[in-house]
Amino acid sequence: MTPTTPDHLVTRFAPSPTGHLHIGGARTALFCWAFARSHRDARGRPGRFMLRIEDTDAARSSDESARGILEDLAWLGIDWDDGPSLHYQGRTIGGDERHVGPFFQAQRRDTYDRYIRQLVEQERAYPAFERAEELDAKRREATAKKQTYRYDRAALSIPLPDRLRRMASGEPHVVRLRAPDDALVVHDEVLGDVTYAAGEMDDFVIRKADGFPTYHFAVVVDDELMGVTHVLRAQEHLNNTPRHVALQRALGFRTPVYGHMPIIMNMDGSKMSKRDKARAARKAAKDAMAKDPKMTAELLADSTALDVATVNGFLAAESDAVETAELFGRHFGVALPEVEIWDFRRSGYLPEAIVNFVALLGWNPGMKTADGKDLEKFDAAFLAERFSMDRIGRGNSKFDRSKLLNFNAAAIGGLSDEQFARRWLEWMLEHEAEAHRVVSKLPHDRLLLLARALKPRAKTFREALRSAAFVFTSDEGFPMDMAAVGKHLLANDKAGVGVLREFKPRLAAMADWSPEAITGALEGFAKEKGMPNPGSIAQPLRVALTGSGVSPGLGETMAVLGRESSLRRIERCVAELGA
Ligand code: GLU
Repeated sequence: MTPTTPDHLVTRFAPSPTGHLHIGGARTALFCWAFARSHRDARGRPGRFMLRIEDTDAARSSDESARGILEDLAWLGIDWDDGPSLHYQGRTIGGDERHVGPFFQAQRRDTYDRYIRQLVEQERAYPAFERAEELDAKRREATAKKQTYRYDRAALSIPLPDRLRRMASGEPHVVRLRAPDDALVVHDEVLGDVTYAAGEMDDFVIRKADGFPTYHFAVVVDDELMGVTHVLRAQEHLNNTPRHVALQRALGFRTPVYGHMPIIMNMDGSKMSKRDKARAARKAAKDAMAKDPKMTAELLADSTALDVATVNGFLAAESDAVETAELFGRHFGVALPEVEIWDFRRSGYLPEAIVNFVALLGWNPGMKTADGKDLEKFDAAFLAERFSMDRIGRGNSKFDRSKLLNFNAAAIGGLSDEQFARRWLEWMLEHEAEAHRVVSKLPHDRLLLLARALKPRAKTFREALRSAAFVFTSDEGFPMDMAAVGKHLLANDKAGVGVLREFKPRLAAMADWSPEAITGALEGFAKEKGMPNPGSIAQPLRVALTGSGVSPGLGETMAVLGRESSLRRIERCVAELGA
């Protein structure tokens, strides 16, 4: 049964556009979306899910990041009712039906200024004119005395008319909230009551010297004006919440329902973050340097076109820049751990697998499968129907990459050949244009055969592409894995080459070139020759056809290549190695 709430329920996802959408952000968005979708209010109106872009940090925000985040959400199938409009695959997501926009905070500065002025006039907030250096000196002094620095409220001694005059004259200043002196209790739907002791809160800044509101201020004003009733966000924000409640009280606003979601951890117990990429890249570089004493930071800088200071800073963990990490990753040929939705897209994960997996990061439906196991496999529609806040866990959630890979493999395995072919091609178009050019030219029946060959083994679309390498090589010359050549073709006095020579006329004479017929012929041949296992014929063939000892099923591989190509490859191999 769909739960009802008295008021029109509104949840929101409020990313800062300072980079790609992080997996944790995707989880927040998904839970907010599912929560809105799973509710009706007393008048039967479905909950609304809103998207707001928090771009008040002008130096770090970019339109490009904002657009990337919208696209990642759309790719995941998380559509928002209110928010910036996005045209995605022929439809429009977002809009401003409730007239609560604009949804970019940088465009709402007049609104924030109005409320700031109100608070200053009511003496609930005040301008502070100290220069940054003055405050830094005081901060250092406190640190030296092993005290926690807090603003000393010096600016409170300025009379109100002077405050207003100095603000109006354009004198540089920040605006601070006069923090409440008594204890504050935040009720959290997941964690219960969280108490903050009297005097714990400082007079924090609500408008910065550059005139932009701080995150705390903008978020509180917008949640009120945009009618947000439920704030679901990560536990990292829990300690911001008393500030938000204090602001709501000062402004005479409602307090929405809060629910803070568990922190997402790596399996080793560290917090999952963008830094994981830097850690992996740094390790790769250090391992390589340890192995090869000639590889110095200077050399590394040279070959990556970075300056030495950047390389040294990165190696010394002074910087975790993602761009440097990715450059190092490419340079050393190591795959960095995926952290952002874009990484998972590029690696060839399916959105339905990600949604299913992410839904389990801190939530579960509390249901059993027919064989008594915890129900873990479900789709977005199930989540939209069943999601409830009371099943959000309190403890940290673990990001189990091998489980995600298994989810993805199962999702790929569940596609029809037709679906696999279409979606794999779409993926290539976006991430591997050159491969797309080749694969999209395959006749449709061969493409479907290829899909059938790749699907059962590929855990990601990228893995499928790797297994399909034989499609991209020309019959005349492609690199051979020399270890496989030695083992399967040259060993035992070129036994493998002999097998190929003998088997080739049979293949040439076959009327039916289907995977089944080819497999049948292979098995028949092996039996007839009394071969102890079919590998004795399969492996030499595999190496001849693909250059490697690993490929999808041979019947499919040959069917995809076609008769002519297959025979030519065998011939080439016999000619080159047979003498
Ligand atoms: N802009 C904040 C972030 O990206 C949103 C926090 C909130 O939901 O209040 O973390």
